[in-house]
Amino acid sequence: MHPFIESAVIAIIITQVAIMATTIYLHRVLSHRALKLGKVSTFIFRVVLWMTTGIIPRQWVAVHRKHHAYTDVVGDPHSPVVEGYLFVQFANVYLYRKAAKNKENLRKYAKDLPPDAWDRALFDRPLLGLGIGILVLFILFGPLVALLVSVIHMVGYLLLSAAVNAIGHTFGDRPYKNLATNNNWLAIITCGEGLHNNHHAFPTAARLSLKRAQIDTGWWTIKFLENIGQATVRLPRPKMPSPVTIS
Ligand SMILES: [Zn+2]
Ligand SMILES: [Zn+2]
Repeated sequence: MHPFIESAVIAIIITQVAIMATTIYLHRVLSHRALKLGKVSTFIFRVVLWMTTGIIPRQWVAVHRKHHAYTDVVGDPHSPVVEGYLFVQFANVYLYRKAAKNKENLRKYAKDLPPDAWDRALFDRPLLGLGIGILVLFILFGPLVALLVSVIHMVGYLLLSAAVNAIGHTFGDRPYKNLATNNNWLAIITCGEGLHNNHHAFPTAARLSLKRAQIDTGWWTIKFLENIGQATVRLPRPKMPSPVTIS
């Protein structure tokens, strides 16, 4: 196989695994406590995020909870209404890092997530995790593919994460009364996160899809984890009030 095609296939798989870990562990488990995970799956998600994103979970949680506290008004760390769509879509990582480094945000929004021994030893060292991830690629596939996979994955993960914040507050359907939007096509490539209007309407629900046609592979994965005894869902989906469309 041509190295570029091989790299693209591997990168797409890694990006999807990273997005899955982001939506389930960082978003639904830690930020909103919509479900609990067993010890084994928790550890796997922590390692995956460490090696594929370099995100420090309590920082992501603090930024995300602030986004819910100040949605689309001044104070929102990454609102396209405040910053403009293009800026959030292409500079989300800059906005994220600015908010993630804010110690006061961390104290206010993530005080329930103090670092444990694993964080101090490994997970609070993002460069070490990313370095090990790249080293594994290098050993398995050689230098060229390792480099291409790393670049494609980084761009893919950053653009998809940004799309949830940017497209997911700009374009799409608004069945519930909030400024976030539902885009089923975006949900398919972000493990359910594209159903963002549903999520802002019911932030503590573990399931982001509320209709049959809506695709939430994050929820399918949670159901699988529940079946093998690795997840306990606190609130699968809310009691359904009638949708109210706003213009
Ligand atoms: Zn949002
Ligand atoms: Zn959320």
